[in-house]
Amino acid sequence: MAARVLDGAAVAQQIRSEVAPAVAAFTARAGRPPGLGIVLVGEDPASEIYVRNKLKSAAEAGLRADLRRLSAAARLEDLLAVVEQLNHSEAHDGILVQSPLPAAMGADAERRVFDLIRADKDVDGLHPINVGRLVQDRATLVACTPSGIIELLARSDVSIAGARAVVVGRSDIVGKPMALLLMHRHATVTICHSRTRDLPAAARTADILVSAVGRPGFLTRDFVKPGACVVDVGTTQVTDRTTVERLFAGTKRLETFEKRGALVVGDVHPEVADVAGALSPVPGGVGPLTIAMLLKNTVAAADSRYAVSRGWDGQERRRGHERRALVR
Ligand code: NAP
Repeated sequence: MAARVLDGAAVAQQIRSEVAPAVAAFTARAGRPPGLGIVLVGEDPASEIYVRNKLKSAAEAGLRADLRRLSAAARLEDLLAVVEQLNHSEAHDGILVQSPLPAAMGADAERRVFDLIRADKDVDGLHPINVGRLVQDRATLVACTPSGIIELLARSDVSIAGARAVVVGRSDIVGKPMALLLMHRHATVTICHSRTRDLPAAARTADILVSAVGRPGFLTRDFVKPGACVVDVGTTQVTDRTTVERLFAGTKRLETFEKRGALVVGDVHPEVADVAGALSPVPGGVGPLTIAMLLKNTVAAADSRYAVSRGWDGQERRRGHERRALVR
């Protein structure tokens, strides 16, 4: 039996339609739209596409979104200076530095950049203050991909409380915040990674299985308990015909590859659709949610900053309760 499709595009559209009145209300109140500063270093083709989509979605939602570009040869100091400008800008409520950064910037470049972004403008939820607040379940700015997945599950009537959840991947941007968000919603959570012994056996304990590895077709049916809900975070740009034929022989996706010469492929093997109870597709699953949550975070940051500038209090706490009420 084919798994129920978790329609990320539809849920993202719902979220965007909820964000629209909040954008209008902020703009009327503050006399300017919420502002997002995006910084792109270098010309990584995938990053170019992600950034273009973010700019387009932000503009459609009525946000002000500016792109600051730096060449691949830029020094880390140049990037830090741009972040500082955005930190001080009154017009920018959110700052997003697109990763990955060029390797030449050094192994600790991303950490230095994320540490420098003001916590109240950190719409990627990567600043240590926001991560700490997430650990304590009182965050206002949470990484967009995992918070989007929580929205997807909640709005698709997937029950989280009491479920056994397994997250494959332990990155700062997806795996760790995903595990925390699931735990806060009362799932019993296991985190797996490249050193996990007998990963398929661990994964098969899951009622909710989230894969954030970045290996096309890695998660086969052996990893999945029949009826489980499977969320595919992986997005790998595949140009190798053998991989595409192995995964998608005789399907429309192979035709798409023939036309474009490349295909975005998730971690989850297509055969999982025969075993899982529900499954998020790639594309059209987690990707659109990430952008919708970025818009939501930018408006939340704008509202919080405006409230602080007016000396209002209690707003942040209220919003935290509202958000939790929404997803429980
Ligand atoms: P990452 O930082 O590379 O982390 C990958 C994780 O997978 C690591 O924890 C790694 O384990 C684990 N892993 C690698 N090989 C493994 C194996 N053979 N068995 C078990 N675990 C393994 O990647 P990320 O930033 O979290 O992203 C993961 C994927 O999600 C990528 O495809 C990325 O493009 C995609 N993504 C999509 C969106 C979206 O909006 N759709 C957003 C963000 C990311 P170790 O820690 O042990 O190395």
